[in-house]
Order: sequence, then structure tokens, then C-alpha cells
Amino acid sequence: MNPLRQIPSIHELKTHPYFEQLKNTEQLSEESLTDLLQIVVKDLREQMLQGSLAHQEIDRKRLIELIFARLRKDLLAFEQNFLRRVINATGIVLHTNLGRARLSNEATAQLTDVAKHYSTLEYQLTTGERGSRHDLVEHYIKQLTGAEGAIVVNNNAAAVFFVLKALASHKEVIVSQGELVEIGGAFRIPDMMALSEAELISVGTSNKTYLTDYERAITNETALFLKVHKSNFKLLGFTNEVDTSELVKMSKQYQIPIYEDLGSGTLFDFKTYEIGDEPTIQEKVQAGIDLISFSGDKLLGGPQAGVIVGKTDYIEVLKRHPLARILRVDKFTLAGLEATLKAYIRGKEAQEIPTIRDITTSDKEIKKIANCFKQKLQTANTSFMCMVEQDYSEVGGGTMPEVKLNTYVAKLKHPVLSSETIAKQLRFFEIPIIVRIQQEMVVLDFRTIKTEELSFIVEALQSIEEEYQ
Ligand SMILES: *Cc1c(COP(=O)(O)O)cnc(C)c1O
Repeated sequence: MNPLRQIPSIHELKTHPYFEQLKNTEQLSEESLTDLLQIVVKDLREQMLQGSLAHQEIDRKRLIELIFARLRKDLLAFEQNFLRRVINATGIVLHTNLGRARLSNEATAQLTDVAKHYSTLEYQLTTGERGSRHDLVEHYIKQLTGAEGAIVVNNNAAAVFFVLKALASHKEVIVSQGELVEIGGAFRIPDMMALSEAELISVGTSNKTYLTDYERAITNETALFLKVHKSNFKLLGFTNEVDTSELVKMSKQYQIPIYEDLGSGTLFDFKTYEIGDEPTIQEKVQAGIDLISFSGDKLLGGPQAGVIVGKTDYIEVLKRHPLARILRVDKFTLAGLEATLKAYIRGKEAQEIPTIRDITTSDKEIKKIANCFKQKLQTANTSFMCMVEQDYSEVGGGTMPEVKLNTYVAKLKHPVLSSETIAKQLRFFEIPIIVRIQQEMVVLDFRTIKTEELSFIVEALQSIEEEYQ
């Protein structure tokens, strides 16, 4: 007898009480539920054809049980989104894989408001006429950076491409050999050059470039000097780099504009907290650089965006370029960005913007959180051993790679469970918890964990232990 005949028809399965039950409990239409049921049955049929289903399973009643068990499992998986919140216990503040900057309460509130309702995205309330989305945040950026103009695009990679394409396509761009960097996520300066059809004229050597190298490379075809922030690495030892201010003098002399890809770009002066030596965007503008671009979701602490600031003439060229329409940002980005920029204008960035708050939090404060966690874990009566120790966190996002932030971590060990098992089970939790493993221990860095999340982590550890007993 053909075992496939044992599979009940869709019609028959739909009259089964299990189906009725799912129809009542699930938030799915009958049609969608039927679609899912069909997929389950189709997969089962294929499995039977391939002979990969155990022989004793091929019994009508058991098949029905199996079909509905699989359907329930699919429905449960569907309730979880693929893009979902996680707890970042790595201490890496700008974790690129975990979404870089988290937004402030003010930014998320503004974003939600604009998302739910109609908005003034391209509408002028004073005249009742069409407005431009480009104007929404420009004056804040001008005020904060001292630049003459600004335009916001999708991300900083787009900004780099945009500037090269609009100002240097089919012309020459002079850049130091030592700055032909790869940032990660397939962003390489030479590739951006090729894509924008700008001719790359690299000068100097990997470790040393002098002003005279730039000068010798100037031709009638030179459209731009390009400076690129090295971001994710630091050149040490026998090196020479031309400071942008020196290059500015020469760019004025030869009337060739200079553009600097600042990478992260910060409005907040971390140097005053003795964290790294990142120049601020304001300092760069002051130095007289014609165009500067930076990311919205790195040190700025806002949504993903690429901000280009600079001299009016160049910004106007960009605004009128067809790429401005292609690379424009959406209303959610603008809402999040406006609220983030306003925190700087109000002088509340260190309190309100999570990225800045997390980077500047002292190890003393973090130690308190770590000890609070340890106490909660002890109260929970598990077999986990917990040690609070001094350690270092990273800024992440390819910014300030040499900076080590003093922090305190909890190192966890379990008499039975391996650190890999614990880390994996933590990832499978309702709100996945992402940890580091160091020397066979699970490490939780409290720099990136909110106090509200502590109890949740304890609960997760408790339930992992219970599940394995
Ligand atoms: C991060 C970075 C970029 C890319 O910025 P995105 O906002 O991620 O597109 C470009 N250049 C430099 C120097 C960077 O550090």
C-alpha cells in the first residue's frame, strides 16, 4: 500500500478539532492558517517520499498528531520577529551586529509619533506650501558644527560615494596611500572611487605621506583632496601623516576643495573625559575643510544616516544633484535625528543619548551595577559561581580602536554547564542575551546592560539551570 495515502487531505485536517482550536487561539485568518497547513503537509509528503520518516510514524492517527505539532511549532516561531530586541552584555557600545547606537527616549518618542501620524515631512506650516525634507535638520547641524550647510543621506558610505560622484566623477582625487582603508561591511575607499568613476591618485607610502606628495600630484584634472579617517586601526611607529589643516592651506592656494570622511564623527568632546583623541566635527569645520561627512549611528548616537557638512557652494551642488533624491533619508530617520541633535543643543547629550552615556559611564558606577547583579544572582539560589572583576570595554563600530574603557564584569561559571552551552541558551532566550566567553567563563559587561535588564538575566540563568536538571 502507498504510505502517502495515509496523509489526510487538507479538507479533512481542517475539520479536525485541532484546527478549530488553532483558529480560535491564533491571530491568523483561516486562509493563512490553511496556507501554513499546506506547507507542513507538503514537507511531510516530501519527507515520506525520501523515506526519511520513521516507519512507525506512518500511521494515520500519528500523522495527524505530527502535522499539528509541526503547525503549532511554526506558529510559535512566527510569533518571534527576525529583527528583535536583544540584551547586549558584550560591553561593546557601538556593536555593529547589534544595531550600533540605541536611540534616546526623546528620539524614539518622536520617531513613533511621526510614524503613527501624518507629518510635516515636506510641508511648510507657515505658507501651507510644499517644503523640503532637507531643511528639517539642517539648521541644527549648522548651529552645532559651525558649518555653512548640511545634507543628510542614507549612511556615511552613501555620503562618501555621493561627494565623490558629484564633485569628482571623471576627474582626479588625491588621497594618501595610508588612507585607502577598508571599514568593514565591504566598504573600501578604492571601490568607492571606482564606483563613482573618480580617478584615484594615491600619494605617499603606506606609512608616510608628506604635503609635498600631495602637491606633486596636482594636475589640471584634480577635483578633490580626500582625507579618510582610519577608524578601525592605528598606524604606529615610523609614520607621517599630513594634518588636514596643512592640507587646507594648500587646497586654498590651488583652489582645490578638500573633503574629509570623518567616519564616526563626534559632536561630543570625549577628550575632556580623557577618552581617546577623536577630533570633534566642530574642530574639523573650524580648520576650514570644505566638506566633511560622518555617520549618524556611531558616536553621534542617532539613527543610521550619513551627514555631510561644509561650504554652501558644495552643499548646494549636492542638494541639486539627482543622487540627493536616490540617497534621501526617510521620515523616521529625520525624526530620530532631530531629537538626537536637539539633545546636543540643550546640552543634555551626556545624560540623554545612550551612546555617550554608556561610553562616559565611570567604572565606579558600573561596579555598583555588577555587584547588584551578583547579589540578585545569589538571592536566586542557583549553582552559578559569580565573580565581579575589573576589565575593559570597547567603543566598537570601528571607532577609537585603541581606547580601552575601564569597566567591571561578572564572570560566570557553572559546575555542570559549559560556558558555550550557557552562552547558546542565553541567545535562545525570550529576549536573547549576547555575551562574551573568556577562558571558559561567561562574561557579562555591565557597561551596555541597563539596570532594568539585570533581573531578566538572572531569570534566564535560573531557567537554563532548571531546564538542564
Ligand atoms: C564607518 C565608516 C564609514 C561608513 O559609514 P556608515 O555610516 O556605516 O555607512 C565610512 N568611512 C569611515 C572612515 C568609517 O569609519
